[in-house]
Amino acid sequence: MKLSLKIISLALLSGGCLYHFQENETHHYHLYIDPGFTDDQRGMIIEAAKDWQEKMGNYLTFDVNAWSADDPDTISIYPTTKIELSKTEGVLGETWNEGINSKIEIATDINNFQQTARHEFGHALSANHIGPGNIMCANDGCASKDITCNDVKEVCSHWNTFSCRAETMPACMSKFTKTNIRRE
Ligand SMILES: [Zn+2]
Repeated sequence: MKLSLKIISLALLSGGCLYHFQENETHHYHLYIDPGFTDDQRGMIIEAAKDWQEKMGNYLTFDVNAWSADDPDTISIYPTTKIELSKTEGVLGETWNEGINSKIEIATDINNFQQTARHEFGHALSANHIGPGNIMCANDGCASKDITCNDVKEVCSHWNTFSCRAETMPACMSKFTKTNIRRE
């Protein structure tokens, strides 16, 4: 009797795991943060990554354990200056996607470092620029400070859209909650 109960619960567990795997496509990234950043800037970079993780729920996870920028699935972040970046595009940060790895450069001599870090992480996750009021708007004037439902939808549009359902992610759920709060 005990044995048959065990078999049933094992079967249920594996069924549950398989179902979970098909429903949610989890992307896991290592972060390599160049030692040239200050402790404050390093903290803001980790905060930016955590914010994407929180807004996308269990679809996205990060750790800061990369040994080098060349490790697989690594987003590497390097400091630069506004003048250095403006030689090319006149921007506050830049991101290069190199296959599954990405390289980010962020100017350290700017006021909106946190916003820029959030924006560049969006590019590292495959997002392109979208309209005003979202973190992925093209410049710091039109971009929001926070990651929005539209931002996670933009990331999802580049992932496997069948298993990446932005409407179930916290960024889109909290938008609904905020509307309710305003009405009260
Ligand atoms: Zn951009």
